[in-house]
Amino acid sequence: MESLTGETQKKRVCYFFDSDIGGFHYGPGHPMKPTRVRMCHALVMNYGLYKKMEIFRAKPASKREMTQFHSDEYIDFLNRVTPSNMKSFVKQQHKFNVWDDCPIFDGLFDYCSISAGGSMEGAARLSRDKCDIAINWAGGLHHAKKGEASGFCYVNDIVLGILELLRYHQRVLYIDIDVHHGDGVEEAFYTTDRVMTCSFHKYGEFFPGTGELRDVGVQKGKYHAMNFPLRDGISDENYKSVFEPVITKVIETFDPSAIVLQCGTDSLSGDKLGSFNLSMKGHANCVKFVKSFNRPLLLVGGGGYTMRNVSRAWAYETGLAVGVELGPEIPVNEYYEYFGPEYQLNVKPSNADDLNTRTYLDRVKRIIFDNLRHMGGPPSVQMQDIPSLPHDEDMDDDDDDELIPPDVRRHRRLLDSRRQADGELSDSDDEGEGGRRNHKSDRDSDEKLGTGMVGILAAGPTSAHAGPSGQTTVERILSSKMDVDEQED
Ligand SMILES: [Zn+2]
Repeated sequence: MESLTGETQKKRVCYFFDSDIGGFHYGPGHPMKPTRVRMCHALVMNYGLYKKMEIFRAKPASKREMTQFHSDEYIDFLNRVTPSNMKSFVKQQHKFNVWDDCPIFDGLFDYCSISAGGSMEGAARLSRDKCDIAINWAGGLHHAKKGEASGFCYVNDIVLGILELLRYHQRVLYIDIDVHHGDGVEEAFYTTDRVMTCSFHKYGEFFPGTGELRDVGVQKGKYHAMNFPLRDGISDENYKSVFEPVITKVIETFDPSAIVLQCGTDSLSGDKLGSFNLSMKGHANCVKFVKSFNRPLLLVGGGGYTMRNVSRAWAYETGLAVGVELGPEIPVNEYYEYFGPEYQLNVKPSNADDLNTRTYLDRVKRIIFDNLRHMGGPPSVQMQDIPSLPHDEDMDDDDDDELIPPDVRRHRRLLDSRRQADGELSDSDDEGEGGRRNHKSDRDSDEKLGTGMVGILAAGPTSAHAGPSGQTTVERILSSKMDVDEQED
């Protein structure tokens, strides 16, 4: 373990971990495995990082805290439904999309509470200047919507964490390096200029189907959403060549007083669901780079489906947060056998082609820079813009629904039909870990993604509120009968 060179001052780091997280299972064959967070923790401890930071077990988020963003009805459902009583909740399961990708499992609500509690408490400690960097690898569940689960995410810990930051910070920047678009967070803050969301993700025939370059936010939030659509196989070098200049410009223009970085590791090479080609160091460079701006920073997890690589990257990034570079040899730990045969920390890139050409990346970068010029500098913020929270005043969720114009007041329904994708995304495992099928679903054209949403900071009716993208075809992350190798269990 070596100290990072060029560090001017050590950061005070708060790290949130609840060992219960490893006990939750989405079900057989499901690629999301909460155990990965415990694997990461085993590395963190055995590398000795506990000596350099404060470790907390956060108070699990309560129902009331979750309804600062989510609807009462949805949270109540999550709190009540169990595998044994789910038969009496069939209607709600469909309404809230809690089936298929987002199954009901034992302890579901507790799992959401732990994930959300870490991000909220991390944000609270940052706001109260108790630390410079807060870390919650059990968080980062960026797809969850106000009243709907999506893409393995039920409760949006990131939105809840940002809401906590907004009580003390005028402007919060959200950066998302998961391979998937950070749609739930973007949607929540699509109409406000107090949160800027920046997502770098694979776009095109890929879940969730949103996150086009032209989606920049609406109303006061115009130019406060940024999407960098990428193609398969992006390398460390190409990623860095867009990430660093774009983030530099965003921070210069928006001037946030706090930053949330979603560190989804499905953008690593060899991920079971992702198709990028980042090495551990390429991924971690984003953490190092964002940290170098010296603003209060909340690091959260996210996707990541090749568990041994997820744990490697997050352990290494925890090291960077505290100012050390972890050595290359994996220390002996309870999951040691998973890191064989080489027992090395690094996640190496493959020889996959990078389909992101220089011309393409430069063109997208140019358009994003143009959009940033339109932002016109940091907005002035009145203190009365601070969002009210349930403990500040009573919140009646029924009223919230009235903000949505009747013509778009529709929930995304069950998918009527499915067809298998053309095979271009299948079997991406580089280590023969079994076949994977991606399914694509067709939706009615009037069920465009994002319709019916209201930015949670919107002050009144938002009739002109188009969705982030208006995609009609959505690539599902997986089908209910997916066939995934269980080797890592
Ligand atoms: Zn993802």
